[in-house]
Amino acid sequence: MSHRRPKRSLGQNFLVDPNLQRKIVAAVEAGPGEPVLEIGPGRGALTAHLARREVRLTTVELDDGLAAELSSRFAGNPRVEVVHGDVLALELPALAGDWPRTTVVGNIPYNITTPIIFRLLRLPYPRDIVLTVQAEVAARILAGPGTRTYGALSVGVRLHARPARICKVPRSAFRPVPRVNSVVLRITPRSPPRLTPAAAADVRVLTRAAFSWRRKQLGTILTRHADLRVPREIGERVLARCSLAPALRPEQLSPDDFIALAAALQSASSALSPPARGTRAD
Ligand code: SAM
Repeated sequence: MSHRRPKRSLGQNFLVDPNLQRKIVAAVEAGPGEPVLEIGPGRGALTAHLARREVRLTTVELDDGLAAELSSRFAGNPRVEVVHGDVLALELPALAGDWPRTTVVGNIPYNITTPIIFRLLRLPYPRDIVLTVQAEVAARILAGPGTRTYGALSVGVRLHARPARICKVPRSAFRPVPRVNSVVLRITPRSPPRLTPAAAADVRVLTRAAFSWRRKQLGTILTRHADLRVPREIGERVLARCSLAPALRPEQLSPDDFIALAAALQSASSALSPPARGTRAD
């Protein structure tokens, strides 16, 4: 066990409650020999339990000292590989071996929660994801239409996956004790994927613009938001085609509404723009 001072810059709050450690690891539905990728193993709170399950475990830890300690601790275990690196910079599908069968687990640093989630929800998807995140972020991910916490993150995750709450982790379960509580989420990527990467990118542009003006009406957002600037007539036509009233506010649209709207905007704008040079118009 490390006696180094935890680094706040790396979001180091270590899970010391053994019951919660077991509960999180029990949510990882991987059997012996199946691939598991652990993000931010730290002092091995989850790693030790996972190693006993005989899964094929790859861990990614950015902290030099912790990575070195974990490497020597698990050196005798051929099923555990400790990678010293930044999870956001590594090519994860190559790292874990059989990525479409991999379950990702992590009690991850608060400051990079959203980038990690969207990194994992890029195609190809892993099989399943179990993440401990700040309670407030979990609420935003789980929120449905018509609620105050529903927003671009709720829609963004649902384009790719189904999120579900596993359990709460009180802040007292960590050392040092953080300022906020956490929640363990299961985020199961859709199989087959629901959208192409280009279609998902269009929905993200639309939802980000919409929720950055969450008190405004849809018609206004489409025509006036700098990231959209849809000509008024086209906006009206597209909204009518999607059976959406221009007076609706973003939080009244379901993820399916956003998907339909982004697709209709995309086909209206490609019908307007001339074919790209070098392509045939037939
Ligand atoms: N899993 C351990 C536990 O439950 O006690 C540690 C959790 S701590 C909240 C997050 C861990 O992620 C720390 O060990 C930290 O050093 C590591 N970390 C921070 N940024 C990282 C990054 N970009 N890539 C990989 N690991 C990172």
